[in-house]
Amino acid sequence: MFKELPTIKHLSHKYEDLYSNLNCPTCDREKEDHNHLWKCDDRQQIIEDIKTDLYFEILNQSNKFIKKDAFEIDAIIDAINDIDFVSIINGLIPKKLTSLINQRTNQQNTHRIIYNSINKIIHRIYEEIWKPRCKDMIEYGKKHNITKNSKRKPSSFKRNNNNHITINHQSTWNLWISMATNLGG
Ligand SMILES: [Zn+2]
Repeated sequence: MFKELPTIKHLSHKYEDLYSNLNCPTCDREKEDHNHLWKCDDRQQIIEDIKTDLYFEILNQSNKFIKKDAFEIDAIIDAINDIDFVSIINGLIPKKLTSLINQRTNQQNTHRIIYNSINKIIHRIYEEIWKPRCKDMIEYGKKHNITKNSKRKPSSFKRNNNNHITINHQSTWNLWISMATNLGG
């Protein structure tokens, strides 16, 4: 679902003359496509923080639902690191993680643990990555003379308001579950 976010690459398909020469509004060094959202040098520290938060949130949620035999954090890290974190952000849940948790509790609890943990991470991504990126975009847009009026031209397209992306957690979850079932590593 993060693939739906209106990055500059995405916008340059709609407003070619306005966006095609612009870089990432945060680093201003590379083109901003969906991959760059997660790979931008200026964002690596926060992404590492969020990744660490995911380990501890899974531990925390596991302790809530699994009464005995709590996990070691290393087991969780090992299960997650099987898959690139960017893939997890984009909806791929490592099978190793699902089966690790499933060894200790029923499937419903396993789903709750993963769902609650990832929900928290999605929230952080929205607050700490996407919102600051949109703030940067406003400044960057001003610098490059992009205003709301200049975007109005192609009337066949709905204008995107970068500050209001709603993330539908339920459909995300359904998507992620089906992806995890089909593609999990
Ligand atoms: Zn960048």
